[in-house]
Formats: sequence, C-alpha cells, structure tokens
Amino acid sequence: MNPIERLSERLIHGDAKKAVLVHSRPNRYYLTSFPSSAGILLVTAGKAYYLLDFRYAEAARAKAKGAEVVDLMNMDETLKGLLTKHGVQEVYMEYTALPYGTAMRYKKICESAGAEAIFDTTLDDALKAQRIIKSEEEIGKIAAAQAITDKAFTHILGFIHAGVTEREIALELEFFMRKNGADGNAFNPIVVTGKNGSQCHGVPGDTVVQDGDLITMDFGAMLNGYNSDMTRTVAVGHVSDEQRDIYNTVLRAQVAAIDAIRAGVRCCDIDKVARDIIETPYPETFGHSLGHGVGFEIHEWPGFSKVDQSLTEPGMVITVEPGIYVAGKCGVRIEDMIVVTEDGCRNLTHSPKELIIL
Ligand code: ZN
Ligand code: ZN
Repeated sequence: MNPIERLSERLIHGDAKKAVLVHSRPNRYYLTSFPSSAGILLVTAGKAYYLLDFRYAEAARAKAKGAEVVDLMNMDETLKGLLTKHGVQEVYMEYTALPYGTAMRYKKICESAGAEAIFDTTLDDALKAQRIIKSEEEIGKIAAAQAITDKAFTHILGFIHAGVTEREIALELEFFMRKNGADGNAFNPIVVTGKNGSQCHGVPGDTVVQDGDLITMDFGAMLNGYNSDMTRTVAVGHVSDEQRDIYNTVLRAQVAAIDAIRAGVRCCDIDKVARDIIETPYPETFGHSLGHGVGFEIHEWPGFSKVDQSLTEPGMVITVEPGIYVAGKCGVRIEDMIVVTEDGCRNLTHSPKELIIL
C-alpha cells in the first residue's frame, strides 16, 4: 500500500462522505513523493487528486505517486467541483500546520460544496501514527542519507586545520554532501569552534579555528525527501584534561543511552540514563532533549525528552545527542541516528566516536 492508501484506510474506510485535504508541504511530499511549494492533496474514498499549478503540474504527472494530477487554475472552483462531484460531506483538515487565514478559506470552499471542514487533530494524529513508524524502505532511505553524511565527516577531517573558519567548514560540508548525491542539506550545518561551542545551535561565522579548540559540527543530508542528522566534536592541535574529560563524559552518556534503547521503554527513561551521567560531574550543562525522531522532517516524533512519557516502538528512527555546554569555554555534542528494534536498536551512523585530535 502506498502512503495515500494507508492514510485512506485509517481515516476514510471507503466512506464516500469523507475526504482528507492536505495542505502542508512535508505532508504532501510524504504522501505523494513529489515536493512543491504550493498545492493541495485531496483524498476521497474513490480517488486522490493532487491539485497543482502550472509550475509543477508537468513534473508531477511524471513523478507524483498515488494521485491524479489536476491543473489548478482557480483553487476555489476546482476544489468545490471535486467535493461536489464525490458527494463529500466531511473534510478532515490539518490542525497544526494550517495558517488561520488558509483554514478559513478552505472552510468557506467546503461550505460552498455542502461539506463540513473538520478542524480537530484527527488528521494530524493519523499522519503522526503513520509517519512515526518507518518501513524498511523508509529506513533504507534514511540510511542512504546518513551514508553521505558519514562520508562528509571523513572528508572534513582532512579539511579542518588551525586558521580555517567555521563558515568555510560549513560550506565544505554542504558542498561535499551535494556533490556526493544529496538533494540538499537536512538543515543548515552548525559549526562552532572554541568558546562558540557552548552555543548548541550556533550559526557558523568568521571565527577562526585555533590550536586547542574543540569544534562541534552538526549536519545532515536530505535525500529523496528523507533526512539524516549527526553531530561530531573534534579537537585541533591538543586538548586539556578538562576538555578530554568533558568529551569522554558525553561519549559515556551517549553510549549508555543507546545501550538502553529497545522497544517498549519510555523515552524519558532513556533521556535520564544520559542525563544522570552528565549531571553529576557537570550540573546544568545539558540543557536540551536527548534527541528527536527523524524522517521526512528533521524534527519529528517522538520528542525524546525528559518529559516525554511515550514508549519506543520498533521502526522509530531517533537521534541520541547528549551534550555538555560550558559558557565562555567550550561545548561537546555527539549524535547518532538509531532505529528501534524489538530487542534493541540498530545504529545508522557509522562515523567514529573516540576523540579525534587533528
Ligand atoms: Zn543534529
Ligand atoms: Zn538532531
């Protein structure tokens, strides 16, 4: 079954009165395998339609899966016509992703076709349930994106030296990943060196790498819509005893958390495994969640934080990325992507984790 058929089975059950309208880019891309900046996916009991304007219609006819492409000239008229034609009476709408004005516009169109637009979390919940568990095919796509990312890490080790800037490292990572098949960045690479390392989501700037710096690089590739996400911290020249201890503490926490992952464990309990190891020697230095789901979007479900009570399930792809951030001094983060399995987990990240001093 393709993703549209799976969604239809969850929500419509062949009921001609029901339909689903998908507006947001990631959900449309996920469901049809075709990305576009604008468009509407309408799923009825009998058929799915992908309403796209002139910029995308031709390409979508060749590439979009599971839906008939309809040229969009006048959105109100086209949508009203399809709802009327299928006798639709209830249309499930996205809840979180829809801007208010857009939601009101769809509501009006639905009403003009004699249908009710349903604004609750039914559709969001169904998409979440479908997307949070990855199929083997999806895991293969995420692993392929990660393989490019691992390759980029190996490459960047030969590029980093005292005198290069954060920005140059970030651009080299991006260029290498694109050259090696990535469709794009999963997100703009984070590269922070020395004191900047305490800014866990710092923006790469003109700061120059110096001997004795720890450099944290958080980056990922996007391939066929799926994302990868990894972080490594490396040193240049030499490290102090304190830097080494911080690094090894993060590494111990990361490995222990991964060892604790298997199906049926509360996310917050896995977070705690890493947090306990860090917080005793370095209190208040690990200020973010242990990780997050990854897939069609870089931040998906589960939240994987200290308050997330949800249980891990086989097929979830999650990051494990503890860190220690000491303001004015340095930062270390180590991040792998993990697939949860029945009795453990599989690591999709293959780059080395022992401290590398360049
Ligand atoms: Zn990351
Ligand atoms: Zn991450």
